[in-house]
Amino acid sequence: MLDLSHLRDAARYEGGISRRLFLACGSALATVPWLARSAGAGERPRFDSDPFTLGVASGDPDAGGVVLWTRLAPAPLDPHGGMPPAIVDVDWQIAEDDAMRNVVAFGTTAATPQLGHSVHVEVDGLKSDRWYWYRFRCGDAESPIGRTRTLPAPDALPDQLRFAFASCQHYEQGLFTAYEQMARDELDLVIHLGDYIYEYRGADGRVRKHVGEEIRSLSDYRVRHAQYRSDPLLHEMHARCPWFVTWDDHEFDNNCAGDISEELDVDPVDFLIRRANAYQAYYENMPLRSRSIPRGPDMRLYRRAAFGRLAELLVLDTRQYRTDQPNGDKRSPLNDEALSRDNTMLGTRQRNWLYSSLIRSTGTWNVLAQQVMMGLVGFAKDGEPLGYSMDQWPGCAYERMQLAKFLEERRVPNPVVLTGDIHSNWVNNLRVDDRQPETPIVATEFVGTSISSGGNGPTTIDGLERLLSDNPIVQFHNRERGYVRCHVTPRDWTSEYVVVSDVTQPGGRSSVRATFAVESGQPGAVPA
Ligand code: FE
Ligand code: CA
Repeated sequence: MLDLSHLRDAARYEGGISRRLFLACGSALATVPWLARSAGAGERPRFDSDPFTLGVASGDPDAGGVVLWTRLAPAPLDPHGGMPPAIVDVDWQIAEDDAMRNVVAFGTTAATPQLGHSVHVEVDGLKSDRWYWYRFRCGDAESPIGRTRTLPAPDALPDQLRFAFASCQHYEQGLFTAYEQMARDELDLVIHLGDYIYEYRGADGRVRKHVGEEIRSLSDYRVRHAQYRSDPLLHEMHARCPWFVTWDDHEFDNNCAGDISEELDVDPVDFLIRRANAYQAYYENMPLRSRSIPRGPDMRLYRRAAFGRLAELLVLDTRQYRTDQPNGDKRSPLNDEALSRDNTMLGTRQRNWLYSSLIRSTGTWNVLAQQVMMGLVGFAKDGEPLGYSMDQWPGCAYERMQLAKFLEERRVPNPVVLTGDIHSNWVNNLRVDDRQPETPIVATEFVGTSISSGGNGPTTIDGLERLLSDNPIVQFHNRERGYVRCHVTPRDWTSEYVVVSDVTQPGGRSSVRATFAVESGQPGAVPA
C-alpha cells in the first residue's frame, strides 16, 4: 500500500489543500518510478461517457477509517463494463466538508481488469465519530461526492445510533422506492442482509427485466451487479452513509448450502467454480475490506464492528459454511433430522469466532446481523404437526438452541438478531426453545421485509390469528415491502417497520406500519 501519510499530515497542518495542489501532487507522484510501479503504471484514459455510472459507496467503517468504493463502468451492461483490458489509475480524496475544501487524505490506486476495474480504498488515520466526504477521479472524469462516517472510539458511549437494515431487492419484481425514504432518514449506517441481486434469467411482463440468462460466469455476475447498481435510488443510498453488507443465497444460487446446490444434477466442481465467480463479483461490487478478497470459492464475510460501547455488530454468513438442509429442504416438523447435532448454519470456525466475540464484547447491545429467521416458527397444516422451514434456523435447531443457551448462560447483554430472507416483517421474542413460551425470553429478533422481492405485498394475511396462537413468540407479522429503521440508545432500542404503498410504479409512499421497543436489560420487544 502506498504510504502517503507525510502528504496527509502536510494537508492537515495547512487545514486543507487546493484542487490544483492535489493535481500537482498527483502528477509529481506519477513521475517517481517506484510509486508509478506500485500503482500498476496505470493509464489515465479519456472517457467518451461517464465511467462512474455505478456511483460511489463506502463500507465497513471503524473508529479510524472506512472503505471507499467505486467501479469504473462507462458501459455498465457490457461484460467488461466498457473498459479496456488495462490497468487504470484512479485518484481519490476524502475531506471534512461536503465542498471537499478540507481534504485530509488522498492518493492514487489501481483499477485492474482482474477485479472488474473496481476500486477499494481502505482509508485510515481519520478522526473517530465524524462525517467525511469523498470522491474519485479517473482521467478527466470525476465521480459524484459520497458521504461517509467513522465509528465512535471503542471506549466511547455515544448517545445514539440510527441505522436501517434491508434485504431482498429483486430488480424485476419492484422498484427500489424504499431507498427514497431511507435517504431522508439521516442514518449513521445501513446494514444489508442479503439477496442484494437475484441470479434468475430475465422474465417478461414484470416491472423491469434482468439482462440475459441465469447467471453463471464471472461476466454474468458482473453485468447483473452493474444492472442493479445502475438503479439511481440504490446508488444514491450508498452515497449517503457507510454500509455493512452480507450475502444470502441469491448472490450465488437459490437455497445454496455450502457447496451443495438445491438441484440434484449439478457437478460439485462446476458448482464451486460458479461460486468463485459469484463471490468475486460480489467482492468487486461491494465496499469491503481486503480481508474479504476471495480465494477461489472461499471468501471471508463474517466480521465484527463496534459502535463504541453502545453496540457490538456481529455480521454473520449463514450460507457459505452450512450443511445441507435436512428433510430434503421441505417444511417439516422438528424431527430427529432437524434436531441433529451435525447440522450447522455457521460452521465450527465461525461459531467459535461468534462465541468468543460475544464473550469479549463491551457492547450495551449485541447485534447479530444475519440472514435466515432464528425464531422457531411453525406453520399449521390441517391434522399434521406444525411444519418448520428447513432452510432457516429450524433446520439447525440444535445449533440454534445451543446459541440461545449460550446467550442466556453467559448473560450476553441485550442480544438483538436482525434477519432478512423471507420477504416479510416479524418481531420474535426468542427463548432457548421457542416451543416453550413459558420459559424466559433470551433475545429479540427483528425480521425485515424485502425492498422489492415479491412485488406489492398484501396488507392482510389469511390465517394470521392461527399463526400467532400457534407461535406465542411472534409479536408482529406483516408482508408489505419496505425496511426497518432502528434507533438505539444506552437505555432502549426502537425498531420502526417502514412500509412502501406501491413498488410497481414510481411515486409509492412510505409510512411506519408498526413500532416495537426493547428496554435495555429486559429482553423481548413490546409495541411502542
Ligand atoms: Fe430474497
Ligand atoms: Ca434468501
